[in-house]
Amino acid sequence: MLQALAIKYRPKTFDELIGQKAVSASLKYALNSKRLAHAYLFSGLRGSGKTSSARIFSRALVCDEGPNATPCGTCKQCVAALEGKHIDIIEMDAASNRGLEDIQSLIEQTKYAPSMARFKIFIIDEVHMLTTQAANALLKTLEEPPNYVKFILATTDPLKLPATVLSRTQHFRFKQIAQNEILTHLKDILNKEDVKFEEEALKFLARSGNGSLRDTLTLLDQAIIFSENHISTAKITEMLGFLDPSKIKEFYRAILHKDREKVFEFLEELQDYEASSVIDEMLFYLKESFFARSEEFSTLIYERFFRILSRAKNLLCDDDGFTLCVMAFMMMEASHLKEIDTQINELQNQIKTPTNEPQKENIKLEILKPQISQNAYELLLEKIYDRDYELAECFKQSTKFIAYENEVLIISSNAQGQNRTLLNQGFKIIQELLRENFGTNAKIEVRKELVIDESKLQSLKQNVNQNDLNSQFDELRKDAKKADPQGEAKEALKQCFGDPRVE
Ligand SMILES: [Zn+2]
Repeated sequence: MLQALAIKYRPKTFDELIGQKAVSASLKYALNSKRLAHAYLFSGLRGSGKTSSARIFSRALVCDEGPNATPCGTCKQCVAALEGKHIDIIEMDAASNRGLEDIQSLIEQTKYAPSMARFKIFIIDEVHMLTTQAANALLKTLEEPPNYVKFILATTDPLKLPATVLSRTQHFRFKQIAQNEILTHLKDILNKEDVKFEEEALKFLARSGNGSLRDTLTLLDQAIIFSENHISTAKITEMLGFLDPSKIKEFYRAILHKDREKVFEFLEELQDYEASSVIDEMLFYLKESFFARSEEFSTLIYERFFRILSRAKNLLCDDDGFTLCVMAFMMMEASHLKEIDTQINELQNQIKTPTNEPQKENIKLEILKPQISQNAYELLLEKIYDRDYELAECFKQSTKFIAYENEVLIISSNAQGQNRTLLNQGFKIIQELLRENFGTNAKIEVRKELVIDESKLQSLKQNVNQNDLNSQFDELRKDAKKADPQGEAKEALKQCFGDPRVE
């Protein structure tokens, strides 16, 4: 029978241990410097290398050449240990031997000196499963074992261990093995096994293994058989019940192009899959594209799609199809934004390039100009609405567009009281939005214009007297409010005094 890959490629030295650099470095140092404790605790996720490390460490302790970090592998101690038959290395699974009696018989064994090695080593797996009584019984021996005894306790759940056990052991934490380290290991094995593969397919295997190398290798065994020695993405997604990534890509494309028919087709097809895994697939695809800096999605779309997908995950209910529909439509809705972005960019370009154009073009632009510049104000307003509704309302109420020239947006403001405070506070945001959308040189110029009391203006017009014109004018100014001038009043003032002075 074919040997399982997880067993065939089980690490035999610390250097072969995958993804646990920190732990293996500390253990190697302890061995080489002979700073040995009498009890160790290895904690970490399943399949993260705890048991393998315990075995390597045990062998390093008993090797005739040792103890050192690189057991020879050839002495009789090493050979027996490698075959799993070393009489002084005792493995116990606390999940199935969790009672007081089991521990009592283990304690009994510690009383006899090792038969062939310098140490007698007890490896207790899943130690958190021991009953309280059993754990208590172990405490005393754990604290002061005979000097030839070493304990290596392993657990997936160190929080379940009594503090008294934790305090009597040297604790090593095994972290979840990184995906890329698992990938490298898989490629290495497949090359040695002479199996062809697509790299993308291996990613699916690694993801399904959830950080457990052992589980991933078990899946790899299955994959080699299922795909008849050629591991392709299509085969693996079929085996694992995943959606083919090319489908996901097409689905996203349909959404971005608002191709309703296509989206419906996909939604129907997706009903054959579990909605939660479809969402996971979509999240994964988006994440991969994001890190690959793909231009398939704009930054805004990334942000919105991530949000919609995570919301969809929370929405999952009995009716999976419904959740997917809602998700798809929210995405279609969210992708409208891209159009606004594009429009702004286009306008920006139009505004920026008027000068060196040929004569004809200039005329055209001249006609277009007021419209475009008015748009500059409206676009800015729209952007402010996107960012802060209240600020936008206030901006709309209390400012008026005057002109947009040479990257300067000129507005008048009659903001008073609360509006004034709000605008002052929000001015930085407004400025920032302006620069974001109209270039870094863009500026806002706010003009406060004077509003003239109309009745006074009328009487002034009737008794124009050059001598006291100045004093009259001063009086007029005193009563003037800081607000946008009324068109008529402005015109009238202009007729009397020429252009009104603007403050
Ligand atoms: Zn040896």
